[in-house]
Parts: sequence; structure tokens; C-alpha cells
Amino acid sequence: MDEPIAITVARAQARRSRQAKVAWGNRCVTVGGDAPVRVQSMTNTDTVDVIGTAIQVKELALAGSEMVRLTVNTPEAAQAVPFIREQLDRMGVDVPLIGDFHYNGHRLLTDYPDCAQTLSKYRINPGNVGKGDKRDKQFALMIEAAVRWNKAVRIGVNWGSLDQELLAHLMDENSRRAAPWGAKPVMYEALISSAIDSAQQAVDLGLNPNQIMLSCKVSGVQDLISVYRELSKRCDYALHLGLTEAGMGTKGAVASAAALSVLLQEGIGDTIRVSLTPQPGESRTQEVVIATEILQSLELRSFVPSVTACPGCGRTTSTTFQELTQKIEGFLRAQMPVWRNKYPGVETMKVAVMGCIVNGPGESKQADIGISLPGTGEAPAAPVYIDGEKAMTLRGESIAEEFQVIVENYVERRFGVHVAAKA
Ligand code: SF4
Repeated sequence: MDEPIAITVARAQARRSRQAKVAWGNRCVTVGGDAPVRVQSMTNTDTVDVIGTAIQVKELALAGSEMVRLTVNTPEAAQAVPFIREQLDRMGVDVPLIGDFHYNGHRLLTDYPDCAQTLSKYRINPGNVGKGDKRDKQFALMIEAAVRWNKAVRIGVNWGSLDQELLAHLMDENSRRAAPWGAKPVMYEALISSAIDSAQQAVDLGLNPNQIMLSCKVSGVQDLISVYRELSKRCDYALHLGLTEAGMGTKGAVASAAALSVLLQEGIGDTIRVSLTPQPGESRTQEVVIATEILQSLELRSFVPSVTACPGCGRTTSTTFQELTQKIEGFLRAQMPVWRNKYPGVETMKVAVMGCIVNGPGESKQADIGISLPGTGEAPAAPVYIDGEKAMTLRGESIAEEFQVIVENYVERRFGVHVAAKA
């Protein structure tokens, strides 16, 4: 017999990073090491708006974000943080909060100890900590707060706010080389050195290396891949991945997926964020939906049952097929906040919604539950397949509603806790 085709294991060359803990109360999210790749997001509400921010954090958490970052930019924002936490605790949302600090973080973390204590992690941008002789002193104050309150820190470098003194120094050094590098390699070096040198400085100030994460965000896909490949070779800190200023809509989603997928497949990246510009009226949760879809498509994590759907063609002349696909996808995602605890494992379920007989029955049989709609010229009947077997045929105007009920019953039967208890 021929040898079976080898199965490629995703992240086969997974990089071994240190493992950090981002904790709040009884909730502790491990990051790095052999922990799953985590999804992070960031609010765009005014942090001073306690209720509005708490509601958005809750929405992001329910969509699948495992840590949520807030801007902490003013004394009022720092004062609001403990109240946001209180509000979240009252709502039963235990997602850890990360404070995003620029320019005045040293003062805010020193002057507002309740804020410093409430946050689970601090994001520090070494390019925005201070200039000249103030830089090291102000950086030290932030690290001292992290040590005092036992908090994780992300040293988050961004090429839009790169440490200009470091960049100038590296450019001077480069100009003295016999064969000077191009502008891009110097910029990459500045990003990486800024992150690694700042991390070493934090360790020298007493921060546990296991509480440090690094990021070097840029907005170009190839730049991001080059920078992270090099960064991952030069340190073993947990790495946060994200294409900064990815853009809006399809462009932002595709660029983020392209960059993150290459790196994740190489085993690089312990947390991810999709920095999507929301379209007017679009929910902030869209960035979490895309991040979870990236991890799910790469088969690294499962967050929500997946729906296999064909693109449709001349055999699907009505919009019934598109509407059913949209309805089922929306239904499955909307159920997840409840299903996540009620039906453990449901996130791995596969549903197929297919447009006609050509690939419909075959694809439906491969899914846990699938429906093949009637294409143009076919008899008006929609066979439903459950666990690979044809279970029934739906007809008439209410196929979508009936299929939804069949899916709900299947979930209850297959993933209900009573089934696990019996097994
Ligand atoms: S399954 Fe049918 S409707 Fe869907 S793309 Fe293929 S031929 Fe077209």
C-alpha cells in the first residue's frame, strides 16, 4: 500500500517563548509558551465614559477578545479605570484590562495607584516615554509601578512613534559602515533594538522577564514579516503581533490576515490584534471577528462553529442561498456567548450551506450538519445531512427557520452537558 500523505501540523516549528500571565481576580490569561495564541482588542470609546467603555469592553469580550486595551491618557481616564473594572465585574465580565500609555504614563501610574493596581498589564511605547535624560527616568517609573503591582508589561514599539534618538544614532553608525545598509534595514534594526533594549532595561530594573511581551508594529505586510522574523530570532519574550494602521474594511482585513498568517504559520506570535479602522456604523467587534477568523482558518483555535458555503453561480438565481448562509452565520455567532459554557466543544462544529446539487450533498456530508438548497431547475427540495447521513428533506417557504431549529436541536443533543455526563 502507498504511504499516506503526510499531514502538515500547523505551527510545527512553533517558537518557544516565555510564558507570561495577565491576571484579574480569579481570571488568569496565560500568554506565550505553549498557551494558545490569544486575541486582543482595543476600545475606541473615551475612557472617561465609564459606562460606554464598560459596555464596549463587554461586547469585545463576548465576541472572543481575551484581553482588552484602553487608552489611559489623562488623569480623568486613570481615575475612570477602577470604575470601569467595577462595572465589568458587576456585569460578570472578567476580561483583563490593559492600559495604553504614552507621554505621561509615568505620572499616571504613580499618581493613580488604584488605576495601576486595577490594570492587568501596561503597554509602554518606548518611543513616547520622554526625550533626553528624562527618558530613562520616566521609563523606570513605569517599570517600578509594574514591579510594585506585579503586572505584565508589553514593550510596544511602533514605527509611527519610533524612538528618534535611537534611530538617529543607528543612522550615524550606518553611515560609518564601509557598505552602508539601506534605509529599511536601519529602520528594522531601530524597531527591534528599541524593543529588546527596553526589555533588558526593564529586567535590570527588577521586572521578571516572564512578565514581558514585545511588539514591533509597522503598517506594511512585508515589513512586518521581516521585522518579526528577526525579532523572534533575537529574543524569547512572548510576542504580540499586529499590522498597525491596517486600514478599513476588506483592505484592513486582508492585509492583517496576509501578514499574521505567514508569521503564525512559522510559529511566531503569542497574541494578535487586528487594527481595523471601523467603517461608519460598524461595530468595534469586527476587529475581534477577523482576528478569531484568522486563528480559526489556520486551525490554531476554534471560537465559533464554521460555516462552509459555496460562492454561488448561475445555478443559484435567487438570493435564498445567500440569505440562508448569512442568517445561519449570524445565528451561530450570536449564540456563542451562551453556547460557549452551555455546550463545550460546540465551537468546533462544522455547518455547510450549499447552493445546489453539484457540490451540495458532498460538502454537506463532510460537515457535522449541512443543507443543500435547490439550484435553478432542481426540484424544490433541500436535503439535510447530519453526521454524514441524509436525515430529512425540507420544502416550502420556511426552510431557513426549520434548518435553524434543526441546528439548535443538533447542538443540544451533541454538545449538551447531559451528554458529556452520561459518556
Ligand atoms: S455548489 Fe452549485 S451553486 Fe454552489 S457554486 Fe457549485 S455549482 Fe454553483
